[in-house]
Amino acid sequence: METLTKEKIQIKPGKLFIGGKWVDSVSGKTFDTINPATGEPITQVYEASEKDVDLAVQAARKAFEEGPWKKMSASDRGKILWKIGDLILKYAAELSYLETLDSGKTIFESSKIDIPHTADVFHYYAGWADKIQGETIPVKGNFFNYTLREPVGVVGQIIPWNFPLSLASWKVAPALACGNTVILKPAEQTPLTALKLGEICQEAGVPDGVINIVTGHGPTTGAAIVKHPGVDKIAFTGSYLTGQEIMRTASNTLKKVSLELGGKSPNIVFADSDIDPAVRGTLNGIFYNKGEVCSAGSRLFVQEEIHDLFMEKLVEKANGYKVGDPFDPKTRVGPLVSEEQLKKVLRYIEIGKNEKAKLLTGGERANVGNGKGYFVKPTIFDEVDNQMKIAQEEIFGPVLATLRFKDIDEVIQKANQTIYGLAAAVWTKDIKKAHLLAKELKAGTVWINTYGVFDAASPFGGYKMSGFGRELGMHALELYTQVKSVWIDLS
Ligand code: ADP
Ligand code: MG
Repeated sequence: METLTKEKIQIKPGKLFIGGKWVDSVSGKTFDTINPATGEPITQVYEASEKDVDLAVQAARKAFEEGPWKKMSASDRGKILWKIGDLILKYAAELSYLETLDSGKTIFESSKIDIPHTADVFHYYAGWADKIQGETIPVKGNFFNYTLREPVGVVGQIIPWNFPLSLASWKVAPALACGNTVILKPAEQTPLTALKLGEICQEAGVPDGVINIVTGHGPTTGAAIVKHPGVDKIAFTGSYLTGQEIMRTASNTLKKVSLELGGKSPNIVFADSDIDPAVRGTLNGIFYNKGEVCSAGSRLFVQEEIHDLFMEKLVEKANGYKVGDPFDPKTRVGPLVSEEQLKKVLRYIEIGKNEKAKLLTGGERANVGNGKGYFVKPTIFDEVDNQMKIAQEEIFGPVLATLRFKDIDEVIQKANQTIYGLAAAVWTKDIKKAHLLAKELKAGTVWINTYGVFDAASPFGGYKMSGFGRELGMHALELYTQVKSVWIDLS
């Protein structure tokens, strides 16, 4: 893949994408998007207000009710989605560059994981477009009864900053496959790749108004989408507090809601596991994308017998992780996304120290480049108690809390002792133990002898306060369709 430099790529100020046109906001108000590696602005984007959101909703409504989208065959819709996937691969170098610049994730992760996965998600849902169908039902009496599986309508999609483009694809691709129209709001910290996605959709032949992209902050732009009576459904990924707020607001207009929220996922290492892969998987589970992963394995449970050996290996390897310029291919840990996140993570590290957890490595800001980036050293706490704040609250940074355990019953009970239930992992060579834990852990995803694998075809979502609804796979089709029952009298 071609390596892009800032000189080669011209980053324009962002516009709003409404009704197939790139427009200024009504008020003209803008804000900076920041490069987290330097703390400096990259460019400006518009802050969409209620008025801009209203224009986007009108465009989406018109496209849903009257546009060519409605008349287009499902197969042709699928072809457009396939084309979006192809164009994402065509523009992969530029997209990876923008993603790393705006979010601080390493160029390795953007170019090898996020962008190819995004293309995959569009290609996967392209195949579903003409396979969404109803059923005929053998009802009592002299009737013919069948169901139609129809799109929900105008869908508001609000996404976070940790996987800006790939999480946009998790929402946009199934929504379009099912025939909905979309208003997408990227996170204020990372708007650039979503705007590029708008250009790609245009080039792929998505009709005007089918996808609208509005940038802005949560309480302004996001809240305006959630409030708007013309929006039929909200799909949200983000923190549980914002999820609660969204549900409260959406209740006024009784919008359909799906939420993918936070996690404090247990990563359980048994004494009978293959230790080196478990060490690698554990590090990947917590330090991938600087720990800014909703399904990060942030609570490590290590069985007593191997505890000391395991921690020794873990710390040694963590100390070899290069923290630095996310464009350096050797970097494993880039800057946190924002100053706000930096402060939050450093605050939790202080809390951990005050709670008397044992700091094994890291525990402070890293000085990289101009010294103004938001870098934090990979941090490992040991001797953590499950009641401590660092064991219960989502830190969303490169901070691992380690607990030791004696036996299987104890670890099941402690692993489930959290408000969250997004993911969990188990490392063991004992197949019985693996399946038992897969059943007993209250989480939407369980990884056995691996961590953090995803596929467009496999469902992802939360138990408990990690939310509801399943994205990816065929389950996402349920989020973006509704069922109509049709009765015909045959007497
Ligand atoms: P964080 O606080 O870590 O940035 P959030 O859950 O607040 O996580 O943000 C995720 C997404 O939700 C972002 O796009 C943000 O702008 C949006 N958002 C935040 N607050 C609201 C809100 N009250 N209504 C709608 N969207 C919101
Ligand atoms: Mg940014």
